Amino acid sequence: DRIQSPDVSVEDDELERSLRPRAFGDFVGQRAVKEQLSVAVEAAIARGEALDHVLLAGPPGLGKTSLAQIIATELDAPFVQTAGPALERKGDIAAFLTALEPGSVFFVDELHRLPRALEETFYPAMEDRQLPITVGTGAGARVVTLDLPPFTLVGATTRTGLLTTPLRDRFGLQHRLDPYDHDDLAAIVRRSAAILQVEIEHQGAEAIAARSRGTPRVANRLLRRVRDFAEVRMGGVVTREAADAALRMLEVDDEGLDRLDREILRSVCVTFAGGPVGLSTLAAAVGEEQDTIEDVYEPYLLQRGFLQRTPRGRCATARAFTHLGLPAPAPEQG
Ligand code: ADP
Repeated sequence: DRIQSPDVSVEDDELERSLRPRAFGDFVGQRAVKEQLSVAVEAAIARGEALDHVLLAGPPGLGKTSLAQIIATELDAPFVQTAGPALERKGDIAAFLTALEPGSVFFVDELHRLPRALEETFYPAMEDRQLPITVGTGAGARVVTLDLPPFTLVGATTRTGLLTTPLRDRFGLQHRLDPYDHDDLAAIVRRSAAILQVEIEHQGAEAIAARSRGTPRVANRLLRRVRDFAEVRMGGVVTREAADAALRMLEVDDEGLDRLDREILRSVCVTFAGGPVGLSTLAAAVGEEQDTIEDVYEPYLLQRGFLQRTPRGRCATARAFTHLGLPAPAPEQG
């Protein structure tokens, strides 16, 4: 598993459950989103109605699942969870929807990976709480419409662009989570350390935050690795020195780049002379899936100004050359 990946690993699973914020008050940062959602939740409770459907967009590891669970907790409603790729047939959706208790929060992660043909099943369910299903086959087939209980669909997606407009438009509340700033990440690290009963110094939390790529999931994972190191080598306290030494050992650099990030950059800088290089060529050169590069590695490299996207492909910036200790490329002739 890649240490700096914002995706969940098996190892993360248990840890994430224990560290997951349970109420809006525990959820660090994202003030505007939190405020708007908590107002909507309170209003729904006051009216005794189900909350409007919610779409949460943003890169992996920023707290979409946590927010969905918080919404359910604050509504005091049952939470039911699935993911786009798990819904293969119309019957899969029907099974979930017909089993919902009134008022439930139905969380569908990776909504953009829901098969297109199934999107339409959600339309009447979201709008009118109705589910038309076909019973019987051949000449005897007929459509019956089932009434569904009130529910709130919370959809999460890393790529809003891949949702069709009709589906997107059916979400009354739409929010985008952006990467966290340094102070929020340090606060998340301190909060997690307190839950894990790890003694951490202010500067230790800062050092972890600085390399967390704006992502709470990465921050928590780094904290755990640093804790191991601190326990084994430094007497248990997460100091700045412990964090620095542990992260050096893990080959995570000052910018939070790991070995594969640097390999990608090096490939663009050296193998492709700074670019432009097409995504598929780059993927082949570093031996990774094109999708993985685009969803997992590239966003942070773009965000930190190491890579640029141009119509002809990816280009390395001067900052990338400097970071890798390479001489800046000669300006193009002519
Ligand atoms: P996503 O669903 O967007 O991939 P998650 O909700 O699973 O992200 O968050 C990953 C982990 O990061 C959670 O287990 C939680 O511990 C932590 N986390 C995310 N957002 C926050 C936050 N705002 N405050 C505190 N911890 C957070």
